[in-house]
Amino acid sequence: VIYTEPARRTNHRTRIRWGRVAVLVVVSAALGGLLGHELPASTSSTATAPAHARRHAHRHLAGAPEGLPAPPAGQGAALGEADGAIPDGTTVFDSGVPGIGRLDPPLLGALRRAAVDAARDGVDFDVDSGWRSAAYQEQLFRDAVAKYGSEAEASRWVATPTTSAHVAGDAVDMASGAAGWLSAHGAAYGLCQIYGNEPWHFELRPEAVTQGCPAMYADPTHDPRMQR
Ligand SMILES: [Zn+2]
Repeated sequence: VIYTEPARRTNHRTRIRWGRVAVLVVVSAALGGLLGHELPASTSSTATAPAHARRHAHRHLAGAPEGLPAPPAGQGAALGEADGAIPDGTTVFDSGVPGIGRLDPPLLGALRRAAVDAARDGVDFDVDSGWRSAAYQEQLFRDAVAKYGSEAEASRWVATPTTSAHVAGDAVDMASGAAGWLSAHGAAYGLCQIYGNEPWHFELRPEAVTQGCPAMYADPTHDPRMQR
């Protein structure tokens, strides 16, 4: 889940493309007086690019730092790799990184099978976030509450430690190249996008191999697993 996650490492080509989209969205939103408003959920099925752009736009507008959130004032150590932070250049094959190695084995296996095939298309399977500790997830949620002003609004973007599929090791957030490849080919590996507003977030749905991926939830608040 979301805007506060570790910096998305994209290749330069993709970063530039998304950057341009973000600028367009920011400009058009400002002209329309829509700044600060979210897209209605009903547009989610077609809002893949705007969702990305909006996320990046928020980051640019807010000046949010990339990478792990800063530790609270007066607290010592920042959250690190042991809590699930993913170093730049990490792929699904880097088992030594806890954020990768602590993923559910069937999910990781499916990701690696997909990665081998995606490599033939010249696509790297870089991971932005995988398994995360409860402490890491708690900090992400607290930061989101501070940013969005309420737990209800924050819940559209960030799960709590008890509800997060990342804490359970059941979800990955892929860099843009891999996410795009998976959106077209993931079902054959049981890898499905779950939320319309998170085109980077994938989970294993084994039945998708034969039945296709299930319908997406518009955002996490529509997911029964997210009820706290
Ligand atoms: Zn996610």
